[in-house]
Amino acid sequence: MYPMNPVDAVALPSHIEQSPLPRLKITEIFLSLQGEADSIGWPTVFVRLTGCPLRCTYCDTSYAFHGGQWRDIDDIVAEVLGYGVGHVCVTGGEPLAQKRCLALLGKLCDAGLSVSLETSGALDVSAVDPRVSRVIDIKTPDSGEVARNREANLALLTAHDQLKFVICSRADFEWARQRVLEQKLHQRTMVFFSPSKDQVSARELADWIVADRLPVRFQLQLHKLLWNDEPGR
Ligand code: SF4
Repeated sequence: MYPMNPVDAVALPSHIEQSPLPRLKITEIFLSLQGEADSIGWPTVFVRLTGCPLRCTYCDTSYAFHGGQWRDIDDIVAEVLGYGVGHVCVTGGEPLAQKRCLALLGKLCDAGLSVSLETSGALDVSAVDPRVSRVIDIKTPDSGEVARNREANLALLTAHDQLKFVICSRADFEWARQRVLEQKLHQRTMVFFSPSKDQVSARELADWIVADRLPVRFQLQLHKLLWNDEPGR
């Protein structure tokens, strides 16, 4: 019914290097407020890993596609703990494009932190530490990356995870609504819909959800309202 995922079949792009050492390529680590999904509003440390094999039309973190600095995983954990808050979000880019992201997630959990992972939904999430809340995108047709959705991930969803649709148009909304209702996604995990900035107004999307009594949670990205999407906020 839905397209195969080409990421399963091909090697990752060469710009996403893998290190033989226990380290990861990091774009930035910073303290802010969690701007979306179930942990919204909590002071949170963000660890942004470098690299992404996707190119969504609305991407606001293209600065994380390249560059970055190699960091030892234990140093990353120590820096996160140094901020003195209980929540950490591992994001990107696509953090799972670096295989050692899994080790980082486990160590952050071992350190007693509440850990979330923001992932594109294109890569396998089965090996992610079960203590982590996986925030998985479902890419809509107007994202330009609908063919990358890894359908096998949906079978792994628990109530501890979250699904996120970024809606770019009325057609996207109808596509997403059909997916939620047909697959009963809302009965398996938390489902969030948010408007793509400058493509669908927040009010329009809110009205569509209410009119259809759709069993999903509307969200606006808090960090964009507060800080207008500045890197590092
Ligand atoms: S998956 Fe995320 S980081 Fe990658 S292109 Fe899409 S929006 Fe940007």
